Amino acid sequence: MSRAAARKYVYDFSEGSREMRDLLGGKGAGIAEMTRIGGPVKVPPGFTITTEACVAYMRSNRFPAGLEHQVERALARLERKAGKRLGDVDDPLLVSVRSGARESMPGMMDTVLDLGLNDDSVRGLAKRTGNERFAWDSYRRFVQMFGNVVRGVDGSTYEQAIERTKRAKGVRLDSDLGAGDFRKLTSTFKRIFERKTGEPFPGDPREQLRQAIRAVFGSWNGDRAVEYRRQNRIPDHWGTGVNVQQMVFGNMGPDSGSGVAFSREGVTGAPQPSGDFLIDAQGEDVVSGVRNTLGLPDLKRVMPKAHRQLTEVLRTLERHYRDMQDVEFTVEEGTLYMLQTRSAKRPAQAAVRVAVDMVGEGLITREEAIGLVDAGSLEALLRPAFDPARKYRPLVTGVAASPGAAKGAIVFTAGDAIRRAEAGVDVILVREFTEADDVAGFHAAKGILTARGGKASHAALVARDMGKPCVSGAAALEIDPDEKTVSVDGQTLREGDLIAMDGTAGLVTTEDVPLTDPKIGKHFKTILAWADEIRSLGVRANADSPEAARNARALGAEGIGLCRTEHMFMEADRQPKMRKMILADDERRRRKALGELLPLQQRDFEGIFKAMRGLPVTIRLLDPPLHEFLPRKEELIVEIDRLVRAKRRGARLDRLERELRRLRELEETNPMLGTRGCRLGIMFPEIYEMQVRAIAGAAINVRRRVREEPHVEIMIPLVDYERELEVMRKLVDDTVARTVAEAGAGPVRYTVGTMIELPRACLVADRIATQASFFSFGTNDLTQTALGFSRDDVEGKFLARYIETKIVDRSPFETIDVPGVGALVEMAVKKGRSKNRKVTLGVCGEHGGDPASVHFFARAGLDYVSCSQNRVPVARVAAAQAALAQRSA
Ligand code: PEP
Ligand code: MG
Repeated sequence: MSRAAARKYVYDFSEGSREMRDLLGGKGAGIAEMTRIGGPVKVPPGFTITTEACVAYMRSNRFPAGLEHQVERALARLERKAGKRLGDVDDPLLVSVRSGARESMPGMMDTVLDLGLNDDSVRGLAKRTGNERFAWDSYRRFVQMFGNVVRGVDGSTYEQAIERTKRAKGVRLDSDLGAGDFRKLTSTFKRIFERKTGEPFPGDPREQLRQAIRAVFGSWNGDRAVEYRRQNRIPDHWGTGVNVQQMVFGNMGPDSGSGVAFSREGVTGAPQPSGDFLIDAQGEDVVSGVRNTLGLPDLKRVMPKAHRQLTEVLRTLERHYRDMQDVEFTVEEGTLYMLQTRSAKRPAQAAVRVAVDMVGEGLITREEAIGLVDAGSLEALLRPAFDPARKYRPLVTGVAASPGAAKGAIVFTAGDAIRRAEAGVDVILVREFTEADDVAGFHAAKGILTARGGKASHAALVARDMGKPCVSGAAALEIDPDEKTVSVDGQTLREGDLIAMDGTAGLVTTEDVPLTDPKIGKHFKTILAWADEIRSLGVRANADSPEAARNARALGAEGIGLCRTEHMFMEADRQPKMRKMILADDERRRRKALGELLPLQQRDFEGIFKAMRGLPVTIRLLDPPLHEFLPRKEELIVEIDRLVRAKRRGARLDRLERELRRLRELEETNPMLGTRGCRLGIMFPEIYEMQVRAIAGAAINVRRRVREEPHVEIMIPLVDYERELEVMRKLVDDTVARTVAEAGAGPVRYTVGTMIELPRACLVADRIATQASFFSFGTNDLTQTALGFSRDDVEGKFLARYIETKIVDRSPFETIDVPGVGALVEMAVKKGRSKNRKVTLGVCGEHGGDPASVHFFARAGLDYVSCSQNRVPVARVAAAQAALAQRSA
């Protein structure tokens, strides 16, 4: 390919914009946009190598044609702009090299600072700045970072050399070292580099740059990055951009520094900027969490001008982006430079507050506010907190880094967290500070506690991302990871000891503080009210007890979309009665046993109808195979064997033998595909009859008491054939009529509909619709039967491998498989409505509370989604977002 025809792989910051995020990466687009804004926003110049260049490099393991030439030209432009040349012996240009993918990947990609230093230019830097110590400190940092990031030399080798130097000098801090020490360290570091890589440290800045660019490209396929993408469902083919930017120095003395800031309070969303800052330091020191940081009030005290500038810049950026921003900045000898801006990741509580406040401030519309909230994260707002009524003695305080409360056994490594969590233990991961390798432990832990780092530390960012509580920077903790102990003021805790932590307040205690269920605060309420104005998709809850119904209603459910009646048979006092019913040898005995269950079911239905006054309640008749209610076969056999050996014939042994016989009669090879759902109703109509009697009786009683007709929908599960529904419908109609007549009551209002949860039902939905007032898509079973994936097994068996192998990118039981299961739903919607225009359409599988699936159901034209209680608010917001997406489509 000729040079002229080569694709454009390099963009100066002044050429890019926020719209070019896919091409330039998030960081590149952010820097370019800030460069365009100008005014108070000062950005050091530079250029971005595109994500396409990275993709091309990954394909051939070579720089694509034209890239090196374009970099060379961009570098020449940068040198002109900066008025300095790379490698210059008098006044060298130094650059940073940073990765930046389309989505930010915290802690995953690595940065190289001070690139361009060598044995000549270090003297130029010292001359230009008049600060020899600074120049040598920068050089040793560069050699260290380059070796570590670009060539994979273990960072601890360098740290040990620094420690040795400090020990030899008898000092404690890096800042106690002088120019001579750093010069010696630089030589040591270069020797380490040569020993570890087998090559001399590259002195040519252009070679340094080449290697750094290659390393950034390569880091896209590093283990940490691949793992992060897998967990966050970021496609592998996006690639990363590379940003090459003129260095500004936060480590030039007391009027310099580096920091990160949010345009609003990062954890609560309160309308004041917040941040972490270090004097005389480079940016990496702030985010690594190795030094404890200062806050913005400190910046105001020590550098009032820079603080004023930063406040103005944050306001400007927020107005420009119409969203809360998260920035990186450096102050070089009193002048503020912006290095990055992006929409701030924020915990759910901050997200709702920011969205509501920004509408109040006239910055955005309500619709935009809804768009700013990550619906899926809202469930976190319904997370537990410490019981405020309970007094306790704090063990230690730290930074309130990620909200919510948790308690559990202390563990000190990610591996231990995983092991104990797998054994069913709640654990809290306690670390000095955290790094990418700890992330697997975050998943396993209920909460994270660190001794170092602030709100911008790795621990804080990752925990917030995952919606886990985190307390960071609890400096009083003395952690001994080898001994697996942590001490505070002479009190020592060991692995396995209990602690409770409150990430909203930054508190830790050894007391077993009760956790309370969370409440919906005022900002959250406002967001939900706006969502309700915008959405057209209804939101119901899956609930099967009066208490759950009340809770669901409080969370905004507009009805119950699924009451699984089998759950009502599982309670301890009902199990024996249910068992008696199943073991009955004939219909007469079965009816007698059912007679004992009826009042219990009826009482529950009454409670549910009362809780849901005025709102629809969809009650599904018994669904699971009957043997699920009997004891496990193996246990029965062992017990029978024991009694026989002990020659203890008698009533108990007779009963157990009867149970075993019945269990064997009912047992099926594929129970999920066996006698369940309406098949049970057809085999044992008296069971469904009892349930319908309980429903009708409850409706009559509640109507009498509250003078309002309950809105009853009776749902038949696992229907394949329209005739099944026809037979069941007749059973329901006859039973209701009989119950009403026996009670001498007026007619009960109810409708009969069906679950659509089998592929055949979707294919013949037009026929089924003639018998149904409503369809409720049971996407759990529909996914199971359409894919032939056992819903109880795949997640623990092959799904992880499927995700790894990129056969699927997430569990189809979590997010609807649009091309397959989704197509079946769409077909059933179309067919169903073609024969019954008025058929109400809903979904009650787990997917009803998953935001991505909610978008699909809205597009498919359903009337409502029904989900577990705590996801009702999630579904309300997701439904509003779906409506907005449809409007703008
Ligand atoms: C379903 O199959 O989606 C459903 C809601 O029913 P269950 O999960 O009870 O089988
Ligand atoms: Mg089902």
